[in-house]
Amino acid sequence: MSSFAIRHAAIFTVDPDNRVIADGALVVEDGMIRQVGDVREVTIPEGVEVIDAGGHALLPGLIDCHSHSSLMRGVTENMPLMDWLPWYQLEHRAMTEEYAYHSARLCYLEALQSGITCVMDMFRYMDRCADAAADLGLRVQLAPYVADRPGKDFFSTREENRQLIRSHHESQNGRIRVWMGLEHLFYCTEDAYRDAARLSREYGVGIHTHCSEQKEEEQAVTAEFGRRSLAMLDHYGILGERTLLAHCVWLNNEEIARVADTGTSIAHCPVSNAKLASGVARVPEMLAAGVTVGLGTDGPVCNNSLSLFEEMKFASLIQKATRLDATVLPAEQILRMATINGARALGLDREIGSLEVGKKADLLLLDLGGANMAPVSVNEQGGNLIWNLVFAAGPGNVSGVWVDGRQLLRRGEAVQVSQQAVIADAQRQGLALHEACRKLAHTRMSMV
Ligand SMILES: [Zn+2]
Repeated sequence: MSSFAIRHAAIFTVDPDNRVIADGALVVEDGMIRQVGDVREVTIPEGVEVIDAGGHALLPGLIDCHSHSSLMRGVTENMPLMDWLPWYQLEHRAMTEEYAYHSARLCYLEALQSGITCVMDMFRYMDRCADAAADLGLRVQLAPYVADRPGKDFFSTREENRQLIRSHHESQNGRIRVWMGLEHLFYCTEDAYRDAARLSREYGVGIHTHCSEQKEEEQAVTAEFGRRSLAMLDHYGILGERTLLAHCVWLNNEEIARVADTGTSIAHCPVSNAKLASGVARVPEMLAAGVTVGLGTDGPVCNNSLSLFEEMKFASLIQKATRLDATVLPAEQILRMATINGARALGLDREIGSLEVGKKADLLLLDLGGANMAPVSVNEQGGNLIWNLVFAAGPGNVSGVWVDGRQLLRRGEAVQVSQQAVIADAQRQGLALHEACRKLAHTRMSMV
């Protein structure tokens, strides 16, 4: 395992005190953070590689709490969610192991280039997604797209999910974790939810599903089941500290309180929610109630980018704009959502999400030399840099990424794979998948 030191970086620890070290050093031994502090106080062990990072900021790797790998980007546009879903299903009717593998490779590469070190991916053929993660070295949470209602049998099966836990949970030095994945109330039977709750306890794995994304969806759920979405999930017994719900745009006050009381976490996907005209999640109320909220991109189909920098900026701005309140969700709070709170939502906050001694070295090094970051002033409160990390920085500033102390991106280029090969494969496979979808267009079914 790798040992090295990074010195003279502006370090944003995102620790419980939000400590910022203007001229800092961090020592990694055997893939773990062993020291972090002012460069004058850290003792760099003899013989280890030393990276001089003057003019750079060092952060915990960003965490994408909700994504769907895909080769579809920019092909189902200008549609609200309920019109869009039947088209999205075509991708899954046409999906093969090979398409799934290349989808994951492309999306995991884009994640790395965007400074993301951990992705929650809900997708198909996830043993092949694990292969893609191994190729790139990324940390991933795998939640198969399970659906067991009649007519939805082209998604993943409950048996596949169980098998994946047995074969892949905690594999690749613990970088792969498997979750119970459930697509949606309209796709899964009561039995699937109750089984997920049972297997979550039996195997100690999390549960990930979608909840209350759009107003029309919420109305359709109430009409079908006689209860709102959150009440149905509660009734099925899946709320709790191991459960992560994506979206939750339309929760009312009682539902937010119930999410908080049960210790359930939320993956907030503001760009996707805006693009599909779903609305603006009530994040300030969620945070005030004590809910753990991480950020998610929701994947290339409904975003269309996997940049958590965009997600951070948008998460803050959309609240300011719609509440006419410039003080809501400041940079410091948003950076925590993209790092330590995301780790907490995934049940990984003891291992990753901040730069603290004893944590795994999942690191993001940002080059501050770009025109978009100048001028830089940093002090113990973060200076202007804390604001510019959230409102100015982008994937173009990402110079280095490490997971488990292993360098996966150097000077913006992937280390473990050929970027050109990953992109060329995705181009070829993607166009073939688009053609396969076109041939299935006659099978398109409305949602409800
Ligand atoms: Zn989603």
